[in-house]
Amino acid sequence: VVAAWGGGVLSVIFSLALLAAMFVCVVLHELGHALTARTFGIATRDITLYPIGGVAGLENTGRQPFEELVIALAGPAVNLLIALLLLPAVVLAVKEGLLRAPDISLADGFLPLAALFAFYLMGLNLFMLLFNLLPAFPMDGGRVFRAGLEFFMGRLPATEIAANVGAVVALLVGLALSFGPLAAGGFNPIPLLIALFVIVVGRLELFMVRREARQATAGAGRAAEAPAAAPGVGFTGFRWDYHYRVWVRWQNGQPVEVYSAE
Ligand SMILES: [Zn+2]
Repeated sequence: VVAAWGGGVLSVIFSLALLAAMFVCVVLHELGHALTARTFGIATRDITLYPIGGVAGLENTGRQPFEELVIALAGPAVNLLIALLLLPAVVLAVKEGLLRAPDISLADGFLPLAALFAFYLMGLNLFMLLFNLLPAFPMDGGRVFRAGLEFFMGRLPATEIAANVGAVVALLVGLALSFGPLAAGGFNPIPLLIALFVIVVGRLELFMVRREARQATAGAGRAAEAPAAAPGVGFTGFRWDYHYRVWVRWQNGQPVEVYSAE
């Protein structure tokens, strides 16, 4: 409202309508993640909208790297689809000369305003597409990067690398945008703040993966020590451990692997 105030009431309404449409696109982007996750049997707890975007809270079940890859790409794919759907309208508007003067007024009727709206919304979707594909974990591009790493290594080392690379990328992009040409010679703190937010959330997710890895290791150790779970000399096969609530794989009377239900 403040930024558009100088352009008059129509300019304010235009900006608010564009913002509302953009958040509809953010919801559709998150639904892209959530509905793709559902096809893999992964539920979504909630979708939260923040001033700088949305987050789909997927249930943290053991996701395969391939599934993670497809789920991460599904969000940006929605923005690409929206941009492609708006493209004919924008091309038509350019051909008809409707986008000649991008000023917000009803002097030439409603159509030039609608054309400008479609043009901006297409641009915003292309921006969301490219922005989310930055390899800045935990953003979508960073998740794609981690999923790629997970084909070669475990989830924990892949997350460590993705979170560190993501922090560097976020900081560089944040600095470039805060001081660069978009800041018009001055300093715009918002890109840097978003970068710091991305870094913090990335660290939090890394800590979560570290804790999961520790719990899995500790669970395996406990089960191996549990005398009550020993099924007998020379046993090979699977046994349900009632005490620790895990499946244990035994080989020649030794517990060798633990499968947690969580
Ligand atoms: Zn996304």
